[in-house]
Amino acid sequence: MIAVTGLVKAFNGTPVLRGIDLTIQPGERIVVIGPSGTGKSTLLRCINFLDHADEGTIRIGDLSVDVAKATKAQILAVRRRTAFVFQNYALFANRTARGNITEALVTVQGIPKAEATSRADEILRDIGLSDKADAYPASLSGGQQQRVGIGRALALNAPLILFDEPTSALDPEWVGEVLDLMRRIAEQRQTMLIVTHEMQFAREIADRVIFMEGGRIVEEGPPSQIFDAPRDPRTQEFLRRVR
Ligand code: ADP
Ligand code: MG
Repeated sequence: MIAVTGLVKAFNGTPVLRGIDLTIQPGERIVVIGPSGTGKSTLLRCINFLDHADEGTIRIGDLSVDVAKATKAQILAVRRRTAFVFQNYALFANRTARGNITEALVTVQGIPKAEATSRADEILRDIGLSDKADAYPASLSGGQQQRVGIGRALALNAPLILFDEPTSALDPEWVGEVLDLMRRIAEQRQTMLIVTHEMQFAREIADRVIFMEGGRIVEEGPPSQIFDAPRDPRTQEFLRRVR
């Protein structure tokens, strides 16, 4: 089980997360929605320690970290257990598709190069990019680049994958292939925490939808409840605007 408790984060004195409590069951697929500037990315980034929260606890299985007192070793341990998929892919431009996947395996996980390479080739097959193994990001389409970004996250075998608007930077023609890959990952019951504006996709794959506003979780529930019968006026207003 994964649990975030009392997560608080401010930037320059401005509160961005105002006390987030979130428990995630193994295999659960959670979609986070909400207006922009509301702290969705910050929540994901704090779970992975890309941003360092001010207060709260992050628990992943037997690992429990008080973020205010987190040691370097604890931060590394959390990173090993959480993989991150970025909106802008964040691939290394000077590494091939295969190299982008092996990089974290070798540097973060300490896996020997040869093993990392064979794992990367397996992943490249899974994401349908075997023929692009030696291609550099600049020669790949946006959709292919993001599939590599997702492949890199998959390769880590992390108990939790965090997706921060993985299709928002894509030209419309590439959105479908990335959502298809995410659907396949969801079918395998990989635990996923996904920020997205793709409401139809959320409805299809989410076990639970969380609506955030102003650094708080305002409402959460199964997609049918959140999308068809939202209770909070703020959720109703948001959904009216995005539809
Ligand atoms: P969302 O992902 O919901 O759009 P974010 O988590 O990106 O929202 O941002 C929430 C708020 O925190 C915004 O007001 C944003 O400007 C601010 N913020 C995010 N990251 C930083 C940062 N590194 N420094 C200062 N302010 C930040
Ligand atoms: Mg964001």
